[in-house]
Amino acid sequence: MNCRLIDAYLDQTDTQLSPEAARHVQECERCRRLVDALDRLSTTADIPVALRTRIEQGLLASLRPVRPLPPARAFLVTALAVFACFAVLGIVIMGVSGARDANWRQLGVALGILGAGAALLASSLTRQITPGSAYRIHPARLLASIAILLLASLVLLSPWTARPWRLWSGWTCGVAGLGVVFPAAALLCLLVRRGALLSPALTGATAGLLAGLPAVVALQFGCGFGQAAHVAVWHAGTAFASAAAGFLFGHFFGRR
Ligand SMILES: [Zn+2]
Ligand SMILES: [Zn+2]
Repeated sequence: MNCRLIDAYLDQTDTQLSPEAARHVQECERCRRLVDALDRLSTTADIPVALRTRIEQGLLASLRPVRPLPPARAFLVTALAVFACFAVLGIVIMGVSGARDANWRQLGVALGILGAGAALLASSLTRQITPGSAYRIHPARLLASIAILLLASLVLLSPWTARPWRLWSGWTCGVAGLGVVFPAAALLCLLVRRGALLSPALTGATAGLLAGLPAVVALQFGCGFGQAAHVAVWHAGTAFASAAAGFLFGHFFGRR
């Protein structure tokens, strides 16, 4: 009999030690301490029946039936559909007077970046609300990267000196943008609630930025005032405000 055999023996049985094992335990200090510790554990685990029943009943009473999660692909497709539908709807409502002034190649690049950003955000959102999903990029890093890329590309694609610019003169674009953001965000909120909210603030910010992107698409098409500072504040700014609102909403109301 040796220490390893005693370990295996104690793993398998809580009945009396065989005489041979008992002799080893008597002689070996390590095994004696192990057996003592296990004895102490088994006495503390001796919970009174009344207490155990109370704990059991408390746990059982707090259990609620859960709705099984829809498949991840359904989340992804719905999130992308919300982006696409509101982008098209926004363009239909706001018109394409911006497209007449803008270089079509610039508009195409902006649209490509916004579409790619939406696809990445929708994928990240799906992973966030599907427990056990692995991230290729951490959601917070992805959010920051897309926000920076969005701002940089919109600013770089727009001229700085289109017309003299006053900060507040573009507020109508902000208001029109929010008109697209609100219904898109409401739909994404309903979608997210079907999933498992593990980090509500981060998921709120992701959904918020995703809801903001169709507004930016619509504004790029509909706004004839495509000057860089205006675009940065009133077009990209709409999406950033939506992301910030989503973050706060998730932080304060996300835990059900
Ligand atoms: Zn031993
Ligand atoms: Zn504008």
